[in-house]
Amino acid sequence: MSTLTLRQPPGAGAGRLLDALPAGLDGAGLWRALGSEDLLAPVYRDRDPRHGIDPVALGTLLTELDRNCSLGSTLAVTVPLATCLPLLGSGTGRAAPALAKALRGQCVVALAATDETAGCDLASLGTELTVDDDGLYLSGTKRWITNATTCDAALVLARHRPGPHFTNFTWVLVPADAPGVSAEPADTHLFDGSGTGHLSFDRVRLGHDHVVGGRGRGMSAFAAHIATERLAGALWAVALCERTLRDTAQYLRERREGGGTLWQREGIRQRYASALLRARQHRALTGSLTHAVAARRDSAAAATLKASAAATVEEVLDVCAHLQGAHGFRTGGPQALRAQAALFGIGGGTTEVVLSIMADAAPEALAGDRP
Ligand SMILES: Cc1cc2nc3c(=O)[nH]c(=O)nc-3n(C[C@H](O)[C@H](O)[C@H](O)COP(=O)(O)OP(=O)(O)OC[C@H]3O[C@@H](n4cnc5c(N)ncnc54)[C@H](O)[C@@H]3O)c2cc1C
Repeated sequence: MSTLTLRQPPGAGAGRLLDALPAGLDGAGLWRALGSEDLLAPVYRDRDPRHGIDPVALGTLLTELDRNCSLGSTLAVTVPLATCLPLLGSGTGRAAPALAKALRGQCVVALAATDETAGCDLASLGTELTVDDDGLYLSGTKRWITNATTCDAALVLARHRPGPHFTNFTWVLVPADAPGVSAEPADTHLFDGSGTGHLSFDRVRLGHDHVVGGRGRGMSAFAAHIATERLAGALWAVALCERTLRDTAQYLRERREGGGTLWQREGIRQRYASALLRARQHRALTGSLTHAVAARRDSAAAATLKASAAATVEEVLDVCAHLQGAHGFRTGGPQALRAQAALFGIGGGTTEVVLSIMADAAPEALAGDRP
């Protein structure tokens, strides 16, 4: 097993571009800017999403996005980058031109898996695909979807047969302006720039060439590609925690107290160091499991990274926000960040879901048969 040394910013082309972009650009605008500057394709091996992710390039881009953009905007780039484009790469028909346009930043693609039903039980989803000789009809509702209000197209996971069997599900690529498609923003002041909202499909007429990856392959494709999204989340968590720790150390060194600064209080230094330790552990774990996910889409390794990212972000942001006192509540400060970063334990599979995957794989992991 190879290990990964995560590259540090600055230096990537994305850093220079992001510095030059107008402040407050939303995630869709960011996607278009990155694509037009050819900064999306290098995230994939051989610049091809079908060949998998280049984790060093992805980590570098995510670090730059985290440094420059809101959490919501970074989310809006991460989901299509890690999941939608590789999924489109598994398809033919309409998927191929959409993938080419997306790589150039000319098409923002949303990933619409979570339904009105419990997201943790994906196999209970109700969005239906009715198939006839001439084409397909799509009906249903997807809730809490990143890029829902800003996308040009959505990859929608639907069922073409009743029941939970994993072969009953199919991905379809749905143009956002197709008759019967509507989007509304989610009722939240969080995740600014992410375009998060709900998508409804009212007997949307599609051709057979809108199916992506083959009928009945929806769930297996989801399982394969969500592993990459979980790796992306782990890499992003490294960047987010280290940035917040750096900002907090600076605040503590400058904050006058008694005859010195807060940084000189041993209790504060020890609390800070415990958060730093957690962040270092997560970085090391990410380095050791990246290859298994990037090269083999190992689901247990991806679940381990997701569980670690969620717990680490929660602990580090909790400590850092508290140590900044009232200053932590400023607009864009660590208290607001903390509320949004709880998404690391929810989106793309809750902590409970990924812990169950880890438990299933425990015998092999403890026998040394898995990373
Ligand atoms: C900002 C944001 C962006 C999102 N973007 C996307 C997107 O782009 N695409 C997409 O498809 N989805 C997206 N989601 C949805 C996300 O993936 C789901 O919220 C997630 O899968 C959990 O589903 P749920 O919210 O329906 O929770 P539920 O399934 O209703 O579960 C609620 C809680 O119950 C507990 N729970 C549930 N089942 C179990 C169990 N079996 N064992 C133990 N505990 C359990 C967990 O604590 C869980 O948090 C997004 C969500 C948010 C908040």
